[in-house]
Amino acid sequence: MPDNITVAGVAVDTRHWIGGLRVASADTFTDHSPIDGSVLGEIARGGPTEAEAAVAAARDAFPAWAATSRTERARILHAIADGVEKRIEELAIVETTDNGALLRSHRRGVMPRVAHNFRFFADWLLKLDHEDFETRGHTNHVSWDPAGPCVLITPWNAPLMLATWKVAPALAAGDTVVLKPAEWSPLTASLLADIAAEAGLPAGVLNVVQGYGFEIGDALTSHPDVRRISFTGSVPTARRIAQSAAANLTPLSLELGGKSPLLVFADADLDLAVDLAVEQYDNAGQVCLAGTRLLVEEPVAEEFTRRFVAKASALTQGDPRDEATDIGPTIHSRQLEKIDGFVQRAVAAGARAVIGGHRKGGQYYAPTLLTDVAQDSEIVQEEVFGPVLTLQTFAGEDEAVRLANDTRFGLAATVVTGDRERAERVGGQLVAGTVWVNCFFVRDLQAPFGGSRQSGVGREGGTWSFDFYCDLKNTVTAPKGWDQN
Ligand code: NAD
Repeated sequence: MPDNITVAGVAVDTRHWIGGLRVASADTFTDHSPIDGSVLGEIARGGPTEAEAAVAAARDAFPAWAATSRTERARILHAIADGVEKRIEELAIVETTDNGALLRSHRRGVMPRVAHNFRFFADWLLKLDHEDFETRGHTNHVSWDPAGPCVLITPWNAPLMLATWKVAPALAAGDTVVLKPAEWSPLTASLLADIAAEAGLPAGVLNVVQGYGFEIGDALTSHPDVRRISFTGSVPTARRIAQSAAANLTPLSLELGGKSPLLVFADADLDLAVDLAVEQYDNAGQVCLAGTRLLVEEPVAEEFTRRFVAKASALTQGDPRDEATDIGPTIHSRQLEKIDGFVQRAVAAGARAVIGGHRKGGQYYAPTLLTDVAQDSEIVQEEVFGPVLTLQTFAGEDEAVRLANDTRFGLAATVVTGDRERAERVGGQLVAGTVWVNCFFVRDLQAPFGGSRQSGVGREGGTWSFDFYCDLKNTVTAPKGWDQN
């Protein structure tokens, strides 16, 4: 297998990155581009041997990195951000080629935010502290101690963005990392390893292993030397990881799926509501936070649907490298099958496809809106992870809240209304890690991010990330015993 492949003119190393060295595997897996199904190359296919080597490298590198001063750790994180900024174009085109998301959003939104992730956690580290306090003359001093090697496992829908939400705070905290990116989008994690090395991150502090989750995952998540596991992905995989982590009671952070509601009240600015609803097709609907259940108050449902159909029908679907494209392909032929299966079963059960409801050739799926869906049906209850929205109507706030909260998920919710008091009342009753009012997808890294119910365990962002990646320790010092000499 060649050690490097060239993707859109960019050289990408296809091997693991372990202990500061490129490491090949005997086996490989094939990486395809979702844009046209073309083969991008053969990628190292890791298993228990590579997992063991990567955890050992992270364990060996940990004492020195944990002892590195906060200012030095922050300096290196800023240098990584500089490296990302220098390579935005390369990272953007490689990620688009690998996962099919829009080049323009990678270029102008995602990759700049990847750099920001490193800057943000570097700066947050420097102001992280609890005030000392006294108990009957004794001083309590709370310290944020680095926890140890962390295993970070990430999905394909926003590969580098989601990986660096974990990598940046873990490194800032003084932990060492084994990153396992998704097998459907393995490339930019390899570029990140290059960038981190060029920025002066010591060998073994960041390790990247490639491979199928079912082959390498268990060896990583059941390893006794691993002190934290942070996972973003699906609920079934999370269950397996939780079982595996139980062997050592390794603390887990889980960012999982959703089936988020978007509530449109009759007093809403309908054009705004339609804009927000159509935005749910971004990344071909492969967004955990997507508000895929449109809940619309009865008096405006017809007009909302008319305007929605007009706007959604005008979306351009095609090559994600074209500036004019609004919706690209789905990630993989298996994902396409899954999406179509959900839609065909819903239609067979009586749903009506107002728009879409079919494939469009290659790995493309037409943006779809389904009406006449029952609350307890599969299409309303299960995450499709594709460009498929359902529309249900409601009469009044109570029914809106009841429908919105009636799934096993609780990741996000969007409320569109012209009435501030209603927004507060309804928002307060929604089960969701994030509630957006008259907006969508606004995320500040200071804010806690995560899901309730089966959408996740724990929160990422600001202090919450450091809570997870650090061992918090309280040292209580007595006022006596100091004058023995
Ligand atoms: P997935 O669960 O199939 O895979 C995610 C990662 O887990 C991949 O790297 C995979 O290789 C690995 N994996 C698979 N089996 C494993 C095992 N036994 N042990 C360890 N690792 C294993 O998820 P996906 O299809 O890549 O991603 C889509 C899902 O991710 C959706 O459900 C989506 O909602 C969710 N997601 C959640 C968020 C969030 O922040 N809440 C963000 C993005 C995606």
